[in-house]
Amino acid sequence: MNIDDILTHLGEERSKYFNAVAPPIIQTSNFAFDTVEDMRVAFSNELIHHVYTRGNNPTVAILRQKLAALEHTEDALVVGSGASAVSAAVIANVSAGDHIVCVQKPYSWTYKLISKLLPRFGVSYTFVDGRDINEIRNAIRPETKVLFLESPNSLTFEIQDLEACSKLAKLNNIVSIIDNSHASPLFQNPSDFGIDLVVHSATKYINGHSDVVAGVICGSKEMIKKIFESELMTLGLLISPHDAALIIRGLRTLPLRVHQSDSTALKIAEYLHQHTKIAKIYFPLHPSFDQYELAKKQMKGCGGLITIQLKARDKESVLRFVRKIKRFLMAVSWGGYESLMIPSIVFHDIQGLPDSPIHWSMVRLYVGLESADYLIEDLESALSEL
Ligand SMILES: *Cc1c(COP(=O)(O)O)cnc(C)c1O
Repeated sequence: MNIDDILTHLGEERSKYFNAVAPPIIQTSNFAFDTVEDMRVAFSNELIHHVYTRGNNPTVAILRQKLAALEHTEDALVVGSGASAVSAAVIANVSAGDHIVCVQKPYSWTYKLISKLLPRFGVSYTFVDGRDINEIRNAIRPETKVLFLESPNSLTFEIQDLEACSKLAKLNNIVSIIDNSHASPLFQNPSDFGIDLVVHSATKYINGHSDVVAGVICGSKEMIKKIFESELMTLGLLISPHDAALIIRGLRTLPLRVHQSDSTALKIAEYLHQHTKIAKIYFPLHPSFDQYELAKKQMKGCGGLITIQLKARDKESVLRFVRKIKRFLMAVSWGGYESLMIPSIVFHDIQGLPDSPIHWSMVRLYVGLESADYLIEDLESALSEL
């Protein structure tokens, strides 16, 4: 379906609500019935009928249709966070005694789910270098039920060959799941490569305004119904109708925002790549990236995340660089209008905690909607501190 149709019209039945252009926020917890028969019918399928907002709400349903269409899947669920989207998609497909193969250093709470929470219920795991399909193949056991991908992977953006991974999963009767937050549904549609479930942190590009935390799960009608009836309803993973309306509003400008962030990030990546104070940049669609060819094959764009390694003599010079930066806010998350940074040094030398998996001289930047010149000016003055 045409992307403009999806973002502007799909799911919106304006004649049902006074031809209002913006959809109403149906802020109700429950829905009333006229007859016992009506109520029975509704209870037969809470995913499509209106019973209770923990299950189905008309405002959230508009958003679900748009997200399924954006990811080229039959259906989608919207939940309270990206972390709950990841958890529900994984938990729905494992039982005690099963095994998960997952890319190494996934998003931090995905790591906790697989390495800490699920082992309490008898589910084991192997983390693998997702760049190497043989390493994934060798990790598969008879009891493996889930292959969890994140492409690009967190922090240094390693990429998995989605087509090869989905083939391998199908051959072994394994459910393939990918966290597709980084590329957004605009730049990568994993279901086109045969991946079964696509999850997002909608907190990032999908909402895009740093004012909602939410998550998305996209897949076949059958898989989505299964997750709805088990994890979504029992764990109560809903989002509020009000947050759904904010995300619908955010989606109206998804292509404008994501393209702007992506093209500005490429300019900044070029600038940083040639800079004498930079040891290395990580940006999948920059020719210097190790897996540039694969990135070009499966991604139409990259988005605004760039990780840099500073040529820093010591930790004090990294701190001087960070202190000098004014136009990238130091904060977690990304995907909003505002540029951000997370210096890895934050996660080093904290008593009682392991160091970050990446070196202290590395900084993850997120390029928002500001102009390249404005951001480069800031980086230039901070790099001169090194
Ligand atoms: C932020 C993020 C998440 C978690 O999403 P929340 O909405 O914060 O729960 C998961 N995966 C990736 C890649 C993320 O960047």
